[in-house]
Amino acid sequence: MTTCVSHDPAILNLPLYDNGHRALAERLEDWCGSRMSDWERDSDRDPAERCRALMAELGDAGWLAHLDGGGEASDMRSVCVRRQTLAYHEDLSDLTYSIQELAAIAVARYGTAEQRGRYLPGMSDGSVVAAVALSEEGAGSDLGAVALRAEPSHDGYVLNGVKTWIALGDIADMCVVLARTGDGPGPLGLSAFLVDMHATGVTRGAIEAIAPRSWAELTFTDCHVGTGALLGERGQGFVVALEMLERFRMTVAAAAVGFGRRAYRLALDRARGREAFGGRLADLQLVKSSLTSMDVRLSAAALLTARAALALDTGGEYAKDSAVAKLYATESAGQVVDAAVQVFGAAGVVSGTAIERLYRQVRALRIYEGSSELLAMTIAESL
Ligand SMILES: Cc1cc2nc3c(=O)[nH]c(=O)nc-3n(C[C@H](O)[C@H](O)[C@H](O)COP(=O)(O)OP(=O)(O)OC[C@H]3O[C@@H](n4cnc5c(N)ncnc54)[C@H](O)[C@@H]3O)c2cc1C
Repeated sequence: MTTCVSHDPAILNLPLYDNGHRALAERLEDWCGSRMSDWERDSDRDPAERCRALMAELGDAGWLAHLDGGGEASDMRSVCVRRQTLAYHEDLSDLTYSIQELAAIAVARYGTAEQRGRYLPGMSDGSVVAAVALSEEGAGSDLGAVALRAEPSHDGYVLNGVKTWIALGDIADMCVVLARTGDGPGPLGLSAFLVDMHATGVTRGAIEAIAPRSWAELTFTDCHVGTGALLGERGQGFVVALEMLERFRMTVAAAAVGFGRRAYRLALDRARGREAFGGRLADLQLVKSSLTSMDVRLSAAALLTARAALALDTGGEYAKDSAVAKLYATESAGQVVDAAVQVFGAAGVVSGTAIERLYRQVRALRIYEGSSELLAMTIAESL
């Protein structure tokens, strides 16, 4: 039986999970608890520097070891447990972990033995930071419109073009880049590459987000990569990208539950501790109703996330469940955090407070790795 606060014990104790997942949640929660005061103290530092430091911290503590076959389990429920726990405690620890995990999925599933040996050991000890660059100014939801070109040369490819909105892009050592090799129209003409971000021809520009993070535009100018940089088959890039996103969506749902749960607990404590109209805020019926909706939404989101991850872990169909989990959990997290700010009143919009930061942190989840509208269309098509 687990007593974690970043998870609902009543859900984590269900047979959807096993004792390994529960132990993982508890160990990671303890570790996060021991790091929280340092993370709070560093919250005003440059986000790119913080993400670099967090990657090293996660690596040193062994939380990335599974990326190269060591450490804790690498099944999707474990990934979801990690994201929920990290998101509950610190946005940037979840961001750092999640992008490394996303890139590692692509390398592990499509990489050759040489590529896996080159990148996964460093990614698993946190010394190599990875990023995933799919989006461009003209190709966000519509990845088939990717324009960055990879022209064949005598011993590889030459990359020219611009990627944008890339998480960890300003600090990455390696990047999975989706590029047009031109073998077919639209999605059929794309290939994926593993690009050394210290290579000649790569420049980066940091982008500021409403919730500070390592986030960048990447420009590739006559950037030469060898034939060994091709990830998967030539022309398979769209499939690589789509599979990565389909698998990973459910983990965004898990992070959303983590953010939402933190906001819910903060609101609950505030409502119980604040006196109003001769009683407690928590005794007022409309406040109770708001807290109840938060609890119901978070339970449903956590169960949908577990359903998707279990389907994937047990070899079932998971694409629709992954989309359903992300759509519901991220929309719900937005509603839960907004309602929590309301419970705080003016104190909820004071810059830099935990609840105000959550309000900014949770917004982007409904946009990346499949916006809510795109996911609704995907689900509709599968009905
Ligand atoms: C914080 C953050 C981190 C990110 N990190 C990365 C990263 O690491 N790597 C990366 O490659 N990208 C990243 N992105 C980019 C992200 O993948 C894109 O923002 C996303 O794919 C949406 O594309 P877009 O922003 O161009 O929106 P658009 O595609 O222009 O869509 C705009 C709006 O129109 C809606 N819309 C679009 N098409 C349809 C349709 N057919 N039907 C109905 N509605 C539609 C969308 O849902 C959205 O609401 C990140 C974005 C954010 C916000």
